Amino acid sequence: MLDILESGIRNNKNTLEYAFGAGSIGALQSVLQNKCLQKDDYVVYFIDLYFKENPGRLGELPSFGKDLIIYVNPEREPTTSSINDFISEFFDGQKSSPVAIIGIGGGITMDTAKAVSNLLTNGGKAEDYQGWDLVKVPGIYKVGIPTISGTGAEATRTCVMTHTPTGLKLGMNSDHTVFNQLILDPDLTETVPYDQYFFTGMDAFIHCVEVLHGRYRNTLGDAFSDQALKLCREVFMSEDMKSNENREKLMVASYFGGCAVGMTYVGVVHPFSAGLSVVLGMHHGIANCVAMTAMEEFYPREVEAFWQMVEKQNVSIPRGVCRNLKKKQYDLLYESTIIHEKPLTNALGDGFKSILSKEKVVEIFKSM
Ligand code: NAD
Ligand code: ZN
Repeated sequence: MLDILESGIRNNKNTLEYAFGAGSIGALQSVLQNKCLQKDDYVVYFIDLYFKENPGRLGELPSFGKDLIIYVNPEREPTTSSINDFISEFFDGQKSSPVAIIGIGGGITMDTAKAVSNLLTNGGKAEDYQGWDLVKVPGIYKVGIPTISGTGAEATRTCVMTHTPTGLKLGMNSDHTVFNQLILDPDLTETVPYDQYFFTGMDAFIHCVEVLHGRYRNTLGDAFSDQALKLCREVFMSEDMKSNENREKLMVASYFGGCAVGMTYVGVVHPFSAGLSVVLGMHHGIANCVAMTAMEEFYPREVEAFWQMVEKQNVSIPRGVCRNLKKKQYDLLYESTIIHEKPLTNALGDGFKSILSKEKVVEIFKSM
């Protein structure tokens, strides 16, 4: 730990209040009741589209008059324009703002809820806030309810979105992006498809690997990461990764992984994964797993552990996805990877560009 760098994050913020445990979705009623005190108060739900046809464990959500339910289609990850579109479609011309915004779903839905909450009070366009500490005032009171575990989006001070014109995949990194209230109910993850459960769960594992290998590591981030890694190993080396106990463990691992990464940075995997998302439209969880297959040089022991978990859970990871692309696509892959300066500095130091030359980056993509 001789070469600790200044991460630029001076004051860590975590979610103040959270309900945890099977059945804790029941706490939402009292959480919202405390907010909806006036006659015209209303709340806005952003809910993963899956639950439209399959409300299942979500049950009947608390309602307060003219609430809005907005279903988020998770086919595509958030872009600055998808966020701007939500604002113009649902909020322009509204007489009053909602008293709470509730995001129920995976990273896509939670990030959408966080971004919309910030934009409603700060004005402007989503792309104006891509970066660090650009959000000026608190957003609308926000509640996060993950229905799939791994990204840590429930814990972090960011909401990831891509600005399509530039390919920049970067969130609103701000204290104001942190949820005010979380409900962590492992019952809600019961219906997650098997492979998706693995891919998203692996995000927690990868966050912690990157934190522990980074130059910005610190004792607090290490402690969160160590515990999350232990839980991930228990879950993914077990016979039934989706048992009640394991879904609870993975929910905690996801939360801790988010806390860990929130006070440092990710490393080499995420920039490559972002390249795959921007250029090939691959989703975050699976893109991380694909990127991980080419990370032996950077994280040899962890890549070995990754393959053990893949094998144990009998999951198939796509291979050769970047083997036969056009030159323009390789150019774009390089650009959308190397743009992530903070994570790459965290992983490789200030001279990361000399380690990751263009040829080298393309070679890594081809080896996936
Ligand atoms: P997701 O939101 O992409 O959803 C993945 C799939 O799981 C979808 O098809 C969804 O319908 C389905 N699903 C979710 N819950 C379900 C349930 N209970 N039952 C059945 N199906 C269910 O999932 P994700 O992997 O959590 O999120 C990825 C996104 O998170 C990316 O956009 C990524 O950039 C973002 N992310 C954000 C942060 C952050 O700190 N804000 C960190 C990492 C990743
Ligand atoms: Zn991630």
